Amino acid sequence: MVKTFKSTDKSQISAHFNVSEFKCKCGGNHDTKIDTELANKLEQLRTKLNCSQIIINSGYRCSTHDKNVGGSGAGQHVNGCAADIVCYDKNNKKISSKVVCCAAQDLNFGGIANIDSTYTATHVDTRTSNFWKGDEVVTSAYSVTSDFYAYYGLSKTDVY
Ligand SMILES: [Zn+2]
Ligand SMILES: [Zn+2]
Repeated sequence: MVKTFKSTDKSQISAHFNVSEFKCKCGGNHDTKIDTELANKLEQLRTKLNCSQIIINSGYRCSTHDKNVGGSGAGQHVNGCAADIVCYDKNNKKISSKVVCCAAQDLNFGGIANIDSTYTATHVDTRTSNFWKGDEVVTSAYSVTSDFYAYYGLSKTDVY
């Protein structure tokens, strides 16, 4: 369920995530929309990968900001259903987005993609149709695979 929060809201939306972490980076003081399912799934991802922390580089985006960062102005971030994240392990080392993509796939996120050439940042969202398994380093296809394990050549023991 997508909930709307005031820009000043600093309440916890789940055990490890605060509403303020999802705030639009445009600097404006408009509301923040967050799908509670997104926060729940991020908690599950945090547990599954045994993360020390997950940093949200971009959560909710207003339409203007989405366009300013190259989006359509109407994507999953604008709906409050997406987060661009960097996951850290217990030694505070960044976890490869290849690993994060596999774990997100196991958790049935609707949209999953590696989003940087160094493979440290991952987009995840809770879309319920037009599922996306992408790799923004590869722009020739919408989904690059139906299975990130096969695509990145990883096994379960590489991921967990
Ligand atoms: Zn904004
Ligand atoms: Zn994104």
